[in-house]
Amino acid sequence: MPETRVIAIANQKGGVGKTTTAVNLAAALAEAGHRVAVIDLDSQGNASTGLGIPPEERDRTTYDLLMADTSLAECVIPTKVDNLSLVPSSRDLASVDLEMSNRQGRTQLLRRKLPSTSEFEYLLIDCPPALGLLTVNAMVGAGSVLVPLQAEFYALEGLSQLLMTVREVRQTANPDLRIEGVLLTMSDNRNNLSQQVEADARNTLSGLVYNTVIPRNVRLSEAPSHAMPVLHYDSNSKGSLAYRELAKEFLSRQYATA
Ligand code: ADP
Ligand code: MG
Repeated sequence: MPETRVIAIANQKGGVGKTTTAVNLAAALAEAGHRVAVIDLDSQGNASTGLGIPPEERDRTTYDLLMADTSLAECVIPTKVDNLSLVPSSRDLASVDLEMSNRQGRTQLLRRKLPSTSEFEYLLIDCPPALGLLTVNAMVGAGSVLVPLQAEFYALEGLSQLLMTVREVRQTANPDLRIEGVLLTMSDNRNNLSQQVEADARNTLSGLVYNTVIPRNVRLSEAPSHAMPVLHYDSNSKGSLAYRELAKEFLSRQYATA
């Protein structure tokens, strides 16, 4: 069984492209022949819906994975996409922070369920828009954090807060946690502010920022309502091409650090 790499897709801001990136990077990796599972850690369940698993088809969920005596293998289900599986979300996650805070080892609840080898090469964790216990559990369980960044005025300020949390997790529970990369999303190259923030991000973070930039593309926002990744909804759209390109860059970095 292959070594399993766990990547937390995190940013405490909502609407920056976490879920879109989790679903479509996963689909692009799956298309390239890698076995991937998305772990939907957001109570909104957008990744689950976007991968074609509506609430009534969610049997065992990330809530069970965290809080019950169930294994990853018991919670993971296939999607319609070849090579792509899912641990679906549960609405119970909305109030799980408080429940978790009373547990012993409350930051390790996810980590203890993630095997170092499994049928999956990549586990992509779609984090909720907060730096609470759920995101901390994802960072403690992960080898690296991928940060989608929407190019707008406060983006870099939010990023420094996120990087502080990464540092705290390194100091306490997971010294090996890496930054996988920072991904500029919803880019609009007719917008000067967007271009300025992208330039600032590259200056400040240099090598961490992916060369690949995800453009604003309406197909990416339509695909979830058809319950499929954009690669399957409109295979030749700009959004599909961008996420395929990202998968390529992601994989080349993996081999560079392996
Ligand atoms: P998050 O998970 O960080 O809250 P989402 O991935 O759900 O963010 O994205 C927020 C909204 O923006 C969604 O409606 C999504 O469909 C849309 N969206 C995300 N990325 C793009 C993009 N590159 N182009 C157009 N719409 C996008
Ligand atoms: Mg989301």
